[in-house]
Amino acid sequence: MKEIHKIGIFTSGGDAPGMNAAIRAAVRTALYNNKEVVGIYHGYQGMIDNTMFEMDSRSVSSIIQKGGTILKTARCTAFRTPEGRALAYANVKKAGIDALVAIGGDGTFTGAEVFSREFDIPVMCIPGTIDNDLSGTDLTIGYDTANNTVIDAIDKIRDTAASHNRLFFIEVMGRDSGSIALNAGVAGGAEAILLPEKDTAIDELIDLLSTALERKKSSMIVVVAEGDKNGGVSNVAKRVKEKFDYFDTKVSILGHLQRGGSPSSADRVLATRMGYAAVNELLQGNTRATIGIRGSTIVNTPLEVALSKKELKLNEDLVQIAKIMTI
Ligand code: ATP
Repeated sequence: MKEIHKIGIFTSGGDAPGMNAAIRAAVRTALYNNKEVVGIYHGYQGMIDNTMFEMDSRSVSSIIQKGGTILKTARCTAFRTPEGRALAYANVKKAGIDALVAIGGDGTFTGAEVFSREFDIPVMCIPGTIDNDLSGTDLTIGYDTANNTVIDAIDKIRDTAASHNRLFFIEVMGRDSGSIALNAGVAGGAEAILLPEKDTAIDELIDLLSTALERKKSSMIVVVAEGDKNGGVSNVAKRVKEKFDYFDTKVSILGHLQRGGSPSSADRVLATRMGYAAVNELLQGNTRATIGIRGSTIVNTPLEVALSKKELKLNEDLVQIAKIMTI
């Protein structure tokens, strides 16, 4: 095992609240172990463009409470090519970096795995995405904050829905994952939740809303995951209205506000534990793995394993409970 002297750290792919807390933890754990740290701006693009800087403990002062990422993030097409990665490695080597901490989603993990194998450089990944769609962990950094943001929005929308007897369709993020929709839907008391993992037909949804109407509900909220297969929230609302026209119907797409904001306590602590673990794993000679959490225990999983299959994260109990809670 080669001794590590200087660790490069970057964020890549979509941003998520709590990434800064992970950066802070990784930087300070490395410094505590007398290692140097280099921050790389804009993920893999910054390796290619050579936008790097030495970090000290004060470089990460007062960032634990901030959303986004102080290291910026990017999607980098050039890194997908051997030529791009060779350029990136030349700059990494020139900077004296001999290990990497990558914070991002599965694209970032794939890039890290390829890069680490090609140039024999140790790398440890940290799952940072609001979507909670990564294998090797129960939770990703940013997911809890995004849930809280969505709940806040649902609560506010419910005030206006109740005042006007409206039916609201609220689209939430998550790509192919229904995690945010299910959790925020339950926490926000949604009358129905459409998930990509469950094929809820429009007629089924209408039956559900009709039953709610019979039970004298005077306003309703349907949470629609962005990955739902009924053709998007506007289409769902239009098709429901064609057959179920008892309410003033409104559509609200929450969009990118779900990505921002100060990270929740849970995300700050999770990110701190993961940043700490990532550096310690590298220093103990582990490489090409992702940090994760199982229950309350921090674990790590080889990237090869984590990237080989998508973990189904949908809590089936909660799907059932959500239905019962709508009576
Ligand atoms: P999010 O889940 O928020 O989208 P992500 O990490 O999955 O985050 P991507 O854009 O998919 O976001 O990936 C981030 C970057 O990782 C890409 O822009 C690219 O530079 C690199 N990357 C992704 N796939 C590969 C690959 N197969 N080979 C090399 N690099 C890759």
